[in-house]
Amino acid sequence: MGSLRINQVTKSFGDTEVLKGINIDVQNGEFIILVGPSGCGKSTLMNMIAGLESVTAGTLEMDGRDVTHISPKDRDIAMVFQSYALYPTMTVGRNISFGLEMRGVDKVERERVVAEVAALLQIDHLLDRKPSQLSGGQRQRVAMGRALARSPEVFLFDEPLSNLDAKLRVEMRTEIKKLHKRLGTTIVYVTHDQVEAMTLADRIAVMKDGILQQLGTPAEIYDNPANQFVAGFMGSPP
Ligand code: ADP
Ligand code: MG
Repeated sequence: MGSLRINQVTKSFGDTEVLKGINIDVQNGEFIILVGPSGCGKSTLMNMIAGLESVTAGTLEMDGRDVTHISPKDRDIAMVFQSYALYPTMTVGRNISFGLEMRGVDKVERERVVAEVAALLQIDHLLDRKPSQLSGGQRQRVAMGRALARSPEVFLFDEPLSNLDAKLRVEMRTEIKKLHKRLGTTIVYVTHDQVEAMTLADRIAVMKDGILQQLGTPAEIYDNPANQFVAGFMGSPP
């Protein structure tokens, strides 16, 4: 459960190949962080894993099952984006439970899940509010709550904290680390913040121009960068 194999995956938009044969094996429960300069293909890869973008060549497997051409709703995956859109007219509670409602989960079970997720993210006291009545950090928690409610095997986070101020970012980073420890789910997480990568990742995947430059533990990457690019990128301030 929760293992993910990215096998020789390429992506072209028209004549432009933006991913050039990516191979990453993600273990069940692993926290993998993707880093690399803007435009190197991180979001494209995440969208492909989520099933929001087609795969040009190669395969994606979850727990040994080929999911390359399977629709997003049939993948046991939830994604949190940088620009998460909450439903503005719904309360926080309904925002969290709406996905379950769409899947036909009954009211009693929905209420149970909302209570559990809200307690985990410490947003119990906000359940009756509308998104416009929340701070940025609270909204991001609600977006995470919505993903958590589905209890997926794999979580995808695409720069989830980049719209938050520095103090909140550090706070949320700690929360995400705790969540991962507690839930033990597989996480693939994109960031441009090297400190975030160092503190959260079991392994870091460094990308450039659609090519995986190095995949290794934070210590491996810092102590033994595969090339000049990795050394320069990981050594520079965010
Ligand atoms: P990153 O997330 O690493 O910043 P992206 O995956 O968003 O990079 O983009 C990788 C490259 O693919 C960029 O050159 C971008 O312009 C291009 N790209 C992304 N989505 C599309 C699209 N729908 N159509 C055409 N080009 C795209
Ligand atoms: Mg991106």
